[in-house]
Amino acid sequence: MVWVVKLEQVIAGKVVSRKKVMALERPEKLQSLGDLGLRLEEGKAVVAAIQKLLVTQQCERHDETRTHCAECGKRRRIKDYRLRHFDTGTVKLTKDAAK
Ligand SMILES: [Zn+2]
Repeated sequence: MVWVVKLEQVIAGKVVSRKKVMALERPEKLQSLGDLGLRLEEGKAVVAAIQKLLVTQQCERHDETRTHCAECGKRRRIKDYRLRHFDTGTVKLTKDAAK
């Protein structure tokens, strides 16, 4: 049996993206307590994977809102891109960002 952890991004009540975080395999019948729930290392990996996806999608959403005019919604001219570094303590991300 496989359990799939997914992260959905919902905007105004609509699911705009759904990403697979991780798949966890477990036997159909419990054979030991070790098969019950998340193992410590799996829990840490799930949280780290969610954090990475969340930070990435928040940065993308932030870029989308910055590159479009808040008044009319038209795309603004992009003068240049620069690399931006984000460090949340658990996730380090380097990403192109519009100026
Ligand atoms: Zn405008």
